Amino acid sequence: MPMNRRKLVGANWKMNGSLEANAKWLKEFAADPPKCETVVFPPFVYLPQVVAGLVGGVAAGGQNLSQHAPGAYTGEVAGEMLVEIGCHWVIVGHSERRARFNEVDLMVAAKARRALDLGLRPIVCVGETLAERQAGKTLEVVSRQVASVLSVCSVAELGQLAVAYEPRWAIGTGHAATPDEAQEVHKAIRAQLSAADQTAAGQVRVIYGGSVTKENAGDLFAEPDIDGGLIGGASLDARLFRAICAAAE
Ligand code: PEP
Repeated sequence: MPMNRRKLVGANWKMNGSLEANAKWLKEFAADPPKCETVVFPPFVYLPQVVAGLVGGVAAGGQNLSQHAPGAYTGEVAGEMLVEIGCHWVIVGHSERRARFNEVDLMVAAKARRALDLGLRPIVCVGETLAERQAGKTLEVVSRQVASVLSVCSVAELGQLAVAYEPRWAIGTGHAATPDEAQEVHKAIRAQLSAADQTAAGQVRVIYGGSVTKENAGDLFAEPDIDGGLIGGASLDARLFRAICAAAE
């Protein structure tokens, strides 16, 4: 039975931004804060600026965190630091981290575990490559990625998670999944979560990422198991991102 989940929309700025560009973005966005749950993920160094500039209940989050406690890990950022600076959310297992920084399922699960231990809500990214889709392995790959995170969470913690289905072939390519393609995978993720706990599964937001635009957002977000989106390129323009949020309101 479908639950009334509040839509969740994230702005993943990736390695983009500057003090000046962020100030402009924050000013434009503050003029009309969205009614859906919204999280902005800037590069770490800009988090204080973004936390200070967000209004209307819009939250900030980290794009990544270390799986370790603070200590001798040069170049890493601990979850404790994200919490201290005012983050409520953190992205784990983004496909760019998996593909370019060798983050494997076990590491992604450890990061999700660390986030939960610190009261940070993880958005766990999953998704197949084009070759995996063409080989008919989409559901197998996504289910393996989801299972590895489920293996480190209790049922009581499930509601703290969000899952982002982000097919790798759709990220930054301009070729979004169709609403039917995305819904098929979201439905399978929901079924997998339901096998862990039906009530909790009804609360977990499963959001879609990959070339979401203001033109395609409405159709994607109208699907029964698509509870919002994680937006990369289109989130760099405050007005475009605001228009995508409008599709989730
Ligand atoms: C992302 O990187 O999370 C993403 C969805 O990127 P884009 O919207 O640019 O495809």
